[in-house]
Amino acid sequence: MAKKSLRKTLVGKAPKSTASTKKPSVKKALTKAAQGKAAHKKPVAKQKKADAEAFAGIAKRWTAAQIDEAFRRFQAQEPEPKGELKHTNPFTLLVAVVLSAQATDAGVNKATPALFALADTPQKMVALGEDRIRDLIKTIGLFRTKAKNVFLLAKKLVEEFGGEVPKTRDELVTLPGAGRKTANVVLNMAFGQPTMAVDTHIFRIGNRTGLAPGKDPLAVELELEKVIPAKYMLHAHHWLILHGRYICLARKPQCEKCIIADLCQWPGKTANTPP
Ligand code: SF4
Repeated sequence: MAKKSLRKTLVGKAPKSTASTKKPSVKKALTKAAQGKAAHKKPVAKQKKADAEAFAGIAKRWTAAQIDEAFRRFQAQEPEPKGELKHTNPFTLLVAVVLSAQATDAGVNKATPALFALADTPQKMVALGEDRIRDLIKTIGLFRTKAKNVFLLAKKLVEEFGGEVPKTRDELVTLPGAGRKTANVVLNMAFGQPTMAVDTHIFRIGNRTGLAPGKDPLAVELELEKVIPAKYMLHAHHWLILHGRYICLARKPQCEKCIIADLCQWPGKTANTPP
């Protein structure tokens, strides 16, 4: 079909352009047609406004039944979700998480195999030395500071923790470069504790959807721990991170692929039903 008549078919007979009636673009019409009547593209400005409102904590909260249903679906879709940082033991996991601050997991994974081949214990990391660590991780952002932290945290593990990664948050946060989020990831992934590490993705989802609104990551973390049923807590961190990383993206959320689209309370969403 010729481009002109395709446009006519998709958008109908367009009214003459006036200040109050605008002809929809072919791209918009195609999107709308592909998504069906329930879905429609929200202008970016509206989505930004919706996010601003959500981050102000005014999203409508989910009921306990809705929360249970959301995690039932996450579990059905991916029963054993895994983190994406490469590691071989609790120590290399700790180092990988420290290196992942303000960097992507993929970027960290490119550098760490060579590092861990030489130093997969605190003792070996100390022996490797800060300069060599820096050379091995120089493709990762903030590598100078991170090399220093990795060296110092390994040294502290050797000197104060018998070369073992501690299993409590209070101890983990005393290590150079390790904050509450790092501690929660390590406790969850290395030691199977039902912690919730709130990163940028989980903070966005908690506020945007109405699952766990909160003004800062700690508030969202505490709210998530309160509302998520205990049976889902061990894997909840990964389900939410993966959902934020691949579906509920910051700029272009993939609402049409979202299995919780019907539960989500975000006014900027572009679909109302799960695929
Ligand atoms: S519908 Fe899904 S992808 Fe869209 S904003 Fe809500 S949670 Fe995010």
